Amino acid sequence: MQELMGLYPDELKAWMAEKGEKAFRADQVFAWLHKGAAFDEMSNLSQALREKLKSEAVDQPVSILSTRVSQLDGTRKYLFSLRDGNCIEGVLMRYEYGCTLCISTQVGCKMGCRFCASTLDGCVRNLTAAEMLGQVQCANRDMNGERVHNIVLMGSGEPLDNYDEVVRFLRLVSHEKGLNIGLRHISLSTCGLVDKMKQLALEGLPVTLSLSLHAPNDQIRKQLMPIANRYSMPEVLDACRFYLQKTGRRIVFEYALVDGLNADEACARELASRLRGMQCHVNLIPLNSVPERNLKGVTEKQVQTFLKVLKDLHISATRRREMGDDIEGACGQLRKKHLTEVKA
Ligand code: SAH
Repeated sequence: MQELMGLYPDELKAWMAEKGEKAFRADQVFAWLHKGAAFDEMSNLSQALREKLKSEAVDQPVSILSTRVSQLDGTRKYLFSLRDGNCIEGVLMRYEYGCTLCISTQVGCKMGCRFCASTLDGCVRNLTAAEMLGQVQCANRDMNGERVHNIVLMGSGEPLDNYDEVVRFLRLVSHEKGLNIGLRHISLSTCGLVDKMKQLALEGLPVTLSLSLHAPNDQIRKQLMPIANRYSMPEVLDACRFYLQKTGRRIVFEYALVDGLNADEACARELASRLRGMQCHVNLIPLNSVPERNLKGVTEKQVQTFLKVLKDLHISATRRREMGDDIEGACGQLRKKHLTEVKA
C-alpha cells in the first residue's frame, strides 16, 4: 500500500497517471491529504476513484491511541499508533504565540544516550515522511480549529539517522499547497551526527538546528552520549559553525543538567569558553529522571547559578520551561510505560 501523503506533487501525479487519472486529480488529492482528509471525505472525487484509492493506497497513516491532558498547563501528550501496530509519542504545547508540536522521527532510537528513555529498547524502525506528517494531522484534528504553528523534531528518534525521510518531511510540511508551515517555525534536534549536519546545511532548508551538547568537554560528554566517541566536540562545534554560516540560523545548544556530572560552575565557565564568539543560545534543561537510569537532576538553585555564570560571560541562555510534568511529558516516557503495561 502506497502512503500518498509522503509523495511530492509530481510523484503523486506520476502515481495517479499510472492509474489512468488526470493530473488535476492529483492536485485535488494532494490538497485533501494535507488538510488531513481521509479518502472517504474527498467529496470532489468520484465514488469509483475513492474506492480505487482506498484499495491501493493509504490516506492518513497515523491515528491517536490515547491523549493525556496536563492539568497544569494544557499540554497534550499523544500516544500515536502506526499501521503496523508500532506506537510513538508526540507532545503538543500551548504558548502565547501558538501551538508547538513535538514529533517523533523513529520508533525508538539507537543512539544510547544515558539519560533518555526513548533509546532503552533500541531502534525498531525509521518513520516515513508520511508518518511524520500524520502526527501533525492528528494534532490539528484533535484541536478542532487551532492549528500547529511550530514543530520540533525532538520526540523519539535521531532525525539525522533517518535523513532522507526527515528532509522529505521538511519539504512537504512547508509546501505552499500543503500545511505550509514555515521552515523558520521548525527546529530539528540532533545528538550531533556531524556529516549529516553538514549535509543538512546545504539543503536550503533554514530550520533551527538544536544540538544536544550536554557537556562542556568530551570527557564528560562521553559519559552521557556514546556518539561522543565517534565525533569529538571540536568536530561537532565546527559542523555547527558551518550550519550557521550556510543558513544564517543561530544554533541552539541543549544542555540537561545532571547532578555531580556537568552542572557545577566550572562546567558553566568551560561551556562559555567553548561557545564564545558563536551566534548561539543555550537551553538549560532540568533533567527528567528516568527510573531505569540512575542519574540525578539538579535543584532550581543549581540551575539558576549555572544560568548566571553563562549570562555573566555573555552567553545567551534560558532555562527551558517544563511542561506536562504530570503526564510523562518527557521523551520516550509514555511509550515506555505503554509497552511495559502491554507486556504485563
Ligand atoms: N535525538 C535527538 C532528538 C530527540 S531528544 C537529540 O538527541 O537531540 C530531544 C532532546 O531531549 C535532546 O536534547 C535530548 O538530549 C533531551 N532529553 C532526552 N532525555 C532527556 C531527559 N531524561 N531529561 C532531559 N532531557 C532529555
